[in-house]
Amino acid sequence: MLTGKYLRLYNNLKTLIPKERLIYDELRTLAFGTDAGFYRLIPQLVIKVETEDEVALVIQNAAELNLPITFRAAGTSLSGQAITDSVLVMLGSNWRDYKILDDGNKILMQPGVIGAYANTYLAIYNKKLGPDPASINSAMIAGIAANNASGMTSGTKNNIYNTLAGMKIVFADGSVLNTNDERSQEAFRKINKNLLDKVIALSQKVKANPNLAERIKHKYRMKNTTGYSLNALVEFDDPFDIIIHLMIGSEGTLGFISEITLNTVPELPNKATSLMLFKDIETACKAIPIFQKMPVDAAEIMDRAALRSVENKPGMPEELKTLNENAAALLVETSSETLDGLNHNIELIISSIEQLPKEHPVKFITDPIAAKKLWDVRKGLFPSACKSREPGTTVIIEDINFPVEALANAALDLQALFKKYNYLENIIWGHSLAGNLHFVLSQDFSDEREVKRYKDFMEDLAILVVEKYDGSLKAEHGTGRNMAPYVKYEWGEEAYELMKEIKQIFDPQNILNPGVILNDDSTIHLKNLKPMPIAHPIIDQCIECGFCEVNCPSKNVTIAPRQRIVSYREIARLKRSGNDPYKLKHLQNDYQYYGNETCAVDGLCAVSCPVDINTGSLIKELRNTNNRKTANTIADLVAGNMSFFTASAKYALNTVHFFHKVLGDRIMTSVARVKKKIFGQNFPMWNKYMPKGADGIKIVKQKESQLKVVYFPSCISRSMGITKDYGSDDSLTTVTIRLLKKAGYQILFPDNLNELCCGMAFSSKGFFKQGDKKSTELYEKLLEVSNHGKYPILFDTSPCTYHFKNYLAALNGKAKCILIITEPIDFIYDNLLDKLDIKKMKEPITIHSTCSSTKMGLPNKFKQLAESLSEKVIVPLEVGCCGWAGDRGFSHPELNESALENLKDSIPDDCTKGYSTSRTCEIGLSLHSGLNYKSIIYLVDECSTAKYI
Ligand SMILES: Cc1cc2nc3c(=O)[nH]c(=O)nc-3n(C[C@H](O)[C@H](O)[C@H](O)COP(=O)(O)OP(=O)(O)OC[C@H]3O[C@@H](n4cnc5c(N)ncnc54)[C@H](O)[C@@H]3O)c2cc1C
Ligand code: SF4
Ligand code: SF4
Repeated sequence: MLTGKYLRLYNNLKTLIPKERLIYDELRTLAFGTDAGFYRLIPQLVIKVETEDEVALVIQNAAELNLPITFRAAGTSLSGQAITDSVLVMLGSNWRDYKILDDGNKILMQPGVIGAYANTYLAIYNKKLGPDPASINSAMIAGIAANNASGMTSGTKNNIYNTLAGMKIVFADGSVLNTNDERSQEAFRKINKNLLDKVIALSQKVKANPNLAERIKHKYRMKNTTGYSLNALVEFDDPFDIIIHLMIGSEGTLGFISEITLNTVPELPNKATSLMLFKDIETACKAIPIFQKMPVDAAEIMDRAALRSVENKPGMPEELKTLNENAAALLVETSSETLDGLNHNIELIISSIEQLPKEHPVKFITDPIAAKKLWDVRKGLFPSACKSREPGTTVIIEDINFPVEALANAALDLQALFKKYNYLENIIWGHSLAGNLHFVLSQDFSDEREVKRYKDFMEDLAILVVEKYDGSLKAEHGTGRNMAPYVKYEWGEEAYELMKEIKQIFDPQNILNPGVILNDDSTIHLKNLKPMPIAHPIIDQCIECGFCEVNCPSKNVTIAPRQRIVSYREIARLKRSGNDPYKLKHLQNDYQYYGNETCAVDGLCAVSCPVDINTGSLIKELRNTNNRKTANTIADLVAGNMSFFTASAKYALNTVHFFHKVLGDRIMTSVARVKKKIFGQNFPMWNKYMPKGADGIKIVKQKESQLKVVYFPSCISRSMGITKDYGSDDSLTTVTIRLLKKAGYQILFPDNLNELCCGMAFSSKGFFKQGDKKSTELYEKLLEVSNHGKYPILFDTSPCTYHFKNYLAALNGKAKCILIITEPIDFIYDNLLDKLDIKKMKEPITIHSTCSSTKMGLPNKFKQLAESLSEKVIVPLEVGCCGWAGDRGFSHPELNESALENLKDSIPDDCTKGYSTSRTCEIGLSLHSGLNYKSIIYLVDECSTAKYI
């Protein structure tokens, strides 16, 4: 409930920003308020901003009321800098524009561009961004800039500070500066002369103090994100240069970054990777000063515990499992313009460390797929390591930097410190080429003694890093609240005063993310610690990193997987404590729509989760628990009478189709809207891509053939046929049968086909018992018809294939034999292409990989298949799960609409054909693209003629 100044802010903004983007309910303020760090503050008001004008408005209104605001990009920050108990200003979905400049040498980006996407845009120019945090697949460019995040290859040379070419900023007074625009600079000189004068004066003051200037230069020879980027004051004279470089690492405390231009760095075409295994961490660290003089792009250190946490991941070498107890590894990359150059690099590197004892001889791999696996494992190392922590404990990640010459000793000292404080379950890894070490501790904050242990450990750590090695306490994760108490300790009084002056110049009212970077409270790092209550085994290992959010179809309409987990945890905590039944009831009520009903249960979140959490599985469990007796009885009835229900569905679809033909699109749409209004949320919403009933399957006697395939048409394909203006008169089943015959196959159908279903339709709604029953029935029939696995089995939709494959996998050795289950992409690519004459079409086409195809690792194969059929294939980069979710698109069309909001713009005007492999997803895709999406089977049939018969 908003009160006081927050209510006034809301009232001031509600006529300027749509109300649905002004959020203050308990569930979403908690969910959106959470970032990846181990602190918890819950905002009073969350504002999703979509334009620079809105940002300026929010800033001005908050300033008038003296209300603190905190900006939020992807929320993967680890040091408590992206949270607030006041106003959280989140980037909406409109900040993703970019422009490649100067033939790929520069890129201009809006703040919401995800780092990895920028690299995809730059790939055709053989360029990439300099900064490369392990979180690059999720982190947005504004967050990367505001944290001065870097990573494995960037070091200090290619970090965002050193690759910065321009910026557009909204300041605390609402004024805007675009350093790429002369006129904007001119205007700023007039309006904000005072700020510019103060910046110049501060810079001159530092330059006039050689000791301080030298100290600053020294500290930035290392990676350092403790405090503000004071090097900007020493390295630049132009006030605009100073300002934009001060913004780097300012963690949203100096202004809002609304555009950023970066110089890019070359992405060399030839790369080699080696996982070097050393006798111990000291030896591994000794290689680092040597590698600094070698053509080494990255050298990532991993101690024994780190290696143990990932030894079972795909792509990791077997020998990891048998290493000695003290061993350590360096994951090393080298690259070159030419192959000869690469081989030369490899020779140099191997011979440079000849004298260091190793566990295994050093070898480099050049296969990009195998190398990517190693790097992906390394990127997911931190969360993977967290998987083994005690449920209910918090994971703390630290990020320190030592001079590389001292790295070996420092690593040993660090290990001794863990022993002293009895932190035995820790891992050490990091970007050792730059002297950057990370470690994680598993910490219980529910106990005062434990909090004190952490506090004392931190004191000793600060002494070790600052006094003994003159290193930095935050190398790349930003100061946040976590290191704020130690900024003065690390930098000294004089430099700290400079930082306070900077804050005063940019934000005299102290409304931009106050308490972050500079904080007078010496115990702020021990306050507002995030509870991690045990909630459900499916999600207990979640570390709230946020890596799953990017894939989630509901992230822009309701909440994302991490937010589902956070709010579910809070519900579990309240249930257990019994302290606040009123709040619990509210959260539970809201969770029904935000958490449960709008989850597509597609499981795409698991694809990018480093600890393999499928939030959709949690939601399915909840649906199962929530299903009432009547619902279960109905599900039993449907499961036991599939043929009747598919026939009825066909009849209903044909009736609706008839009315569509007679009444036309407009009237049908209006009627559907009225009905939905009357009957409520769960009433299916008609749209013009609703199909008519499918053709019946005529099983006629076929010629005997050596080539046999079992065809299982899903219940969806058996009931849903073509739509108006489909471009074909035949249902998918008819086309599939035609195509298989054309390729010379004899088709076998399971007995009693009309009663069969893979079970997915039931289990996705939480009817596990009925789902299992249908899967088992199908299993028995497929065993029989495939002659116990002798013949391959083709499912015509990917989701059913995936579901059934999972059912088989869960049989866990109890399977009677191995069945070869395939879906259209796989089957056509592997079995049909060589049996057909294909005439490639000139027209461009677009394809959509379903979530199931993605989880089965098929997107590349799908693209290759499509490329064998059309000369131009478009795969929209920013379109993931379509959000149709079986039949949820009918009852919750907003999910599909939001998931596909970028689809239309991603498809060029000359492309009029779309293909996928799921009939229901195709309805949603058609609705939001205007193209009539069909199964890829149609296209193969259209482009092919028989080769053998
Ligand atoms: C598993 C894991 C691995 C990580 N690995 C690395 C790593 O290798 N290297 C590394 O450096 N970091 C790493 N991080 C930390 C984090 O991912 C990075 O710091 C990242 O850059 C944060 O980006 P974000 O989009 O999530 O920003 P957020 O967390 O949303 O915000 C970051 C900061 O920027 C501010 N901010 C957001 N938008 C704006 C804006 N438009 N204008 C001004 N300020 C703004 C916020 O207030 C906040 O202070 C990792 C995090 C996780 C969870
Ligand atoms: S579910 Fe996985 S990816 Fe998502 S926040 Fe939790 S740990 Fe991170
Ligand atoms: S299952 Fe899909 S909709 Fe549900 S949380 Fe995961 S990605 Fe989001």
